[in-house]
Amino acid sequence: MKNIILADNAGFCFGVKRAVDTSIEEQLKQNKQIYTLGPLIHNNDVVEFLKENKIYPIDITEVNKLKNGDTIIIRSHGVPEKTIKYLNDLNLNIVDATCPFVTNIQKKVQKYSNLGYEIIILGDKEHPEVVGINGWCNDNAIIYKDGNLGSDIPKKVCAVSQTTEKNKNWEKMISQLSVKTKELLAFNTICSATEERQKSVEELAKNVDLMIVIGGKNSSNTTKLFQIANELCSKTIHIENASELNTSFLDSANNIKVGITAGASTPDWVIREVIEICESQMNN
Ligand code: SF4
Repeated sequence: MKNIILADNAGFCFGVKRAVDTSIEEQLKQNKQIYTLGPLIHNNDVVEFLKENKIYPIDITEVNKLKNGDTIIIRSHGVPEKTIKYLNDLNLNIVDATCPFVTNIQKKVQKYSNLGYEIIILGDKEHPEVVGINGWCNDNAIIYKDGNLGSDIPKKVCAVSQTTEKNKNWEKMISQLSVKTKELLAFNTICSATEERQKSVEELAKNVDLMIVIGGKNSSNTTKLFQIANELCSKTIHIENASELNTSFLDSANNIKVGITAGASTPDWVIREVIEICESQMNN
């Protein structure tokens, strides 16, 4: 007998689902073409699906070509304060789908930067979420990747984290800051969605013979899931959708277990399609 087991936490997280639902609702309400500032999520299937429903990604360098009142959606990563001002100046209708967990970080860095704290962000300075957060404290934050501090540490600090950071990096950074600063405010803003998905795949990959990880090739959280699974299960593949599933991968001996997981930007319908193909192949 062959078994298919889906990881406990797989697929869309709360913030991504909210951004996709908001875009679809907004388009239905307006019944005309609307825009997202950049691809709404790191998943080509979803971006294509949105285009078929008159929701188009547009780059910041192109938004000045939009008409007064056109609708633009801010994606879950959020944007700097100056981007909101720019879109307002263009008289666009802004629909903010920034994940509330990210908005919370933006508000904190704005508040404490105004109160004279130096802002420290743990994260990747190139990632749009971090660029966005930094844009709420005048682009003055000190940004550390991996939790390794530089030599010049301010005395009065407010520390936050990119939502997808690893807890061990946060702990490393805070233990150093606690001895190097005089006044330290620390907000652990790591989102549980990433951690839950990683824990689930770890559990599952240990107990199956084959692992399938579904998600965009440019999705960093999906790539992390693949790396974790691959360390624990040597027969692990990463596919973007069902069309990439080579069914010979499933042609192993009987009595095998197949584990499936998916990144936070992989929609349910893509996961279901993969499961259906696996089921039909395994019942042959
Ligand atoms: S990973 Fe967390 S913070 Fe990021 S969009 Fe999803 S729920 Fe929001």
